Amino acid sequence: MKKYVYYFGHGKADGRAEMKALLGGKGANLAEMTNIGLPVPAGFTISTELCTYFYQNKKTYPKSLKGEVAAALKKVEKAMGAKFGDPKNPLLVSVRSGARASMPGMMDTILNLGLNDVVAEGLVKKTGNSRFVYDSYRRFVQMYGDVVLGLKPVHKDEIDPFELIIEEKKRGKGVHLDTELGAEDMKELVGLFKKAIKEKTGHGFPEDPMTQLWGAIGAVFGSWNNERAIAYRKMYDIPEWWGTAVNIQSMVFGNMGEDSGTGVAFTRDAATGENVFYGEYLMNAQGEDVVAGIRTPLPISRMKEQDGKMYAHLDRIRKTLEKHYRDMMDIEFTIQQGRLYMLQCRVGKRTAFAAIKIAVDMVTEKLITEKEALARIEPDQLNQLLRPVFDLKQKKAAVDGGRLLAKGLNAGPGAATGRVVFNAPDAEEWKKRGEQVILTRIETSPEDIKGMDASEGILTARGGMTSHAALVARQMGKVCVAGCSALEIDYGTHTMTVKGKVVREGDWISLDGTTGEVIEGKVATKPSEVLQVLVDRTLDPKDGPVYQQYARIMTWADKFRRLKIRTNADQPDQAVNAVAFGAEGIGLCRTEHMFFGEGKIGPMREMILADTEEERRRALAKLLPLQRADFEGIFEAMDGRPVTIRTIDPPLHEFVPHEEGAQRKLAQQMGIPYEKVRSRVESLHEFNPMLGFRGCRLGLVYPEITEMQSRAIFEAAANVKLRGKKVEPEVMIPLVGNVKELAHQEKIVRRVAGEVMAEKKVKFTYLVGTMIEIPRGAITADEIASVAEFFSFGTNDLTQTTLGVSRDDAARFLIPYVEMEIYPKDPFEVLDRVGVGSLMKIAIEKGRAVRPTLKVGICGEHGGDPSSVEFCHQINQNYVSCSPFRVPIARLAAARAALNDVPVKAARKPAKSRRAVKRRR
Ligand code: ADP
Ligand code: MG
Ligand code: MG
Repeated sequence: MKKYVYYFGHGKADGRAEMKALLGGKGANLAEMTNIGLPVPAGFTISTELCTYFYQNKKTYPKSLKGEVAAALKKVEKAMGAKFGDPKNPLLVSVRSGARASMPGMMDTILNLGLNDVVAEGLVKKTGNSRFVYDSYRRFVQMYGDVVLGLKPVHKDEIDPFELIIEEKKRGKGVHLDTELGAEDMKELVGLFKKAIKEKTGHGFPEDPMTQLWGAIGAVFGSWNNERAIAYRKMYDIPEWWGTAVNIQSMVFGNMGEDSGTGVAFTRDAATGENVFYGEYLMNAQGEDVVAGIRTPLPISRMKEQDGKMYAHLDRIRKTLEKHYRDMMDIEFTIQQGRLYMLQCRVGKRTAFAAIKIAVDMVTEKLITEKEALARIEPDQLNQLLRPVFDLKQKKAAVDGGRLLAKGLNAGPGAATGRVVFNAPDAEEWKKRGEQVILTRIETSPEDIKGMDASEGILTARGGMTSHAALVARQMGKVCVAGCSALEIDYGTHTMTVKGKVVREGDWISLDGTTGEVIEGKVATKPSEVLQVLVDRTLDPKDGPVYQQYARIMTWADKFRRLKIRTNADQPDQAVNAVAFGAEGIGLCRTEHMFFGEGKIGPMREMILADTEEERRRALAKLLPLQRADFEGIFEAMDGRPVTIRTIDPPLHEFVPHEEGAQRKLAQQMGIPYEKVRSRVESLHEFNPMLGFRGCRLGLVYPEITEMQSRAIFEAAANVKLRGKKVEPEVMIPLVGNVKELAHQEKIVRRVAGEVMAEKKVKFTYLVGTMIEIPRGAITADEIASVAEFFSFGTNDLTQTTLGVSRDDAARFLIPYVEMEIYPKDPFEVLDRVGVGSLMKIAIEKGRAVRPTLKVGICGEHGGDPSSVEFCHQINQNYVSCSPFRVPIARLAAARAALNDVPVKAARKPAKSRRAVKRRR
């Protein structure tokens, strides 16, 4: 018989932290905390396998489940010395969902289950605290009504029927806070709630605890497929088949009076990464009161003053957890009449800044190794470090000018400027129109995630550092200022009032998520610390703590990666930046971009419009010194590093003017009739230019172009070499599908190289290679490698030609394609490993069979995408090439790919699952 139920309690659990797939994150960690001796109320977990069973069997359970649950419940009763449903000494439980990956607030939890009128009275007798009992009872009926009986509003403008009743009650009593209601009020609420349930559902509230329990279990499994959960899974790539577990845990009560409370905390600051205990708590409160933003919680540092012993206990647990998990943890705790209980722990979500600082600090503290540190930083997180920050002078001017509206919590660092919108659908809509928006809410809730994603920044009036807004913003890497209580937000009129000023929908504001400041209007930004050090050179590395962390991570990455990282750069200044970011060469220098530069487009057009070879050569002669100067600049900038230069690639019509006015001007400049220009431009028109007269085809029909370009490259190389610098030119012929194309071009290149060396009396080494970017090239790579000394996968074109999809026309169907999961991701962003990747593998295999020293790289957009970089590593390429700003990301991605190598095949599975546990966040 299959085991579905796993017990935990009294220092011993059936489960462990490694069993997340089976027990969900929450269940596995409750088990782990139990095992390491932390105070966890006893309970049991129904595994995710049951969720799978549930959905595969028309929402029914296996026969054995009832017995297993009953047995586990008995153990819990024994551990807690109370009995489920027994009015004299009742055990109450919570029923909590818990998927493998945490999905904050996405699925539903029910607290205080097991109460009915009789049990409640019994509990009053036992505790002598009727307010506590009826507070718990009304919460239970509300949660049960919302979650299990389906009373929770579906539409966002609707209000929870129970909240309406509470509001009415408070109004009647003239009070503001729930805590100001007394026992009798709570009791009355229970009655009113039950009445509402009867009215809305036609059924009475289930009084039998066992019925309640099974109802709740069903609802949690059911919630795996609610709309919010589905949307969340889509966004974070959580597969549907994972399923959720259900945790049933004996209740501990934070609402038993002023010696009780509940809180959430991070073992370090999740926004900045600083090594301080960071959290919030509320006394006399239960469950989600802290994160719900209804009352503003106290910072954990306050507990130190109010109850030093409790704080010390919690701080000990903090240290135990960090030592044990070797990571920053996110915890939930409850204090019941002076006793501390742990209710949850998981690896804490964090900003990119925090991720990097924590990883680096933990290496220093010897908690983790350099390798582990690398595994914990997602390459894309580095983007956040490179993002602009506010220009401090500008910000000061704004503040001095009276534009500081308010200050809230610095929940998500960074700088954001945008126009105010007051709800998530508006944020999405405005963003679609191309607007930059700041989503401004009293507080956010799980239905807002799409709108949050569409915003530059998020501003809330309520809620603390662990509120929904803060949590989600950190995960998304969004700028966020939370709990800015000075704001009076009015959803009805779409305005917010602060300091007597009215900010309307569409007005510009700026958020400094690092300091929590909210500023009226736009504030100019300036480059990040990393850029200030590396690119602008306006900051001394000594004065840049963020830069220093970045630098250490990069040093470690370079130690472990095997892929070389190059950059795509067409100009010396780009090359210099890329080198500062760690580029080890240029993987793609597009010569055609140079033709658009100052003074070059004229001769280029003359060349294109020429009638005869002679005319063409005349124009090319004008271009030669210009190109040579460009290449010299690049060789100088790269200072001996290899530079791959691609001969002209795009269709010629891209260089000529298409409007009459411009054509007439050109005709005048060239001293030829307008008609001639017009007809020549017309003759260049192609139906399908991407598959037309471009790439090496140009050089085959007009060999003099290749000749000029080769000469420019080699003369530049010779000149730089003569000045005493190293040069390593690599000439790359594009769009080759047939070895004869390449052989034809190679002959020209090698002849010119020989001529230049003889003329200049200097020797230099160089390579001739090709791009592999059409399927025939990949499939006949053995033939091609007989000529080519290197391959560079041009995966933009290779994806277009392999999929038969035009990148420029694909938006209309590719987005639905991805939604329909025909391709898991946009194949122009993330390499299609199955299709395009297979061609790449074939090309490498066939190519190296003929030429073992064949150098292989990639220069498509994919060269800066972490998943694609990983693939390039796995198929044994020599390098990837990407845009300068992606170089740090590619370095880290390459290191992580190398660290993921599994040497022996048989060892693959366990190694992988261990990694998955450590890396989860
Ligand atoms: P989520 O996954 O949304 O955080 P949880 O299952 O963690 O949901 O529960 C919601 C809240 O209820 C949390 O604050 C948690 O600490 C509290 N809670 C859950 N179970 C218990 C329990 N047995 N005793 C006291 N509080 C509980
Ligand atoms: Mg929780
Ligand atoms: Mg191409």
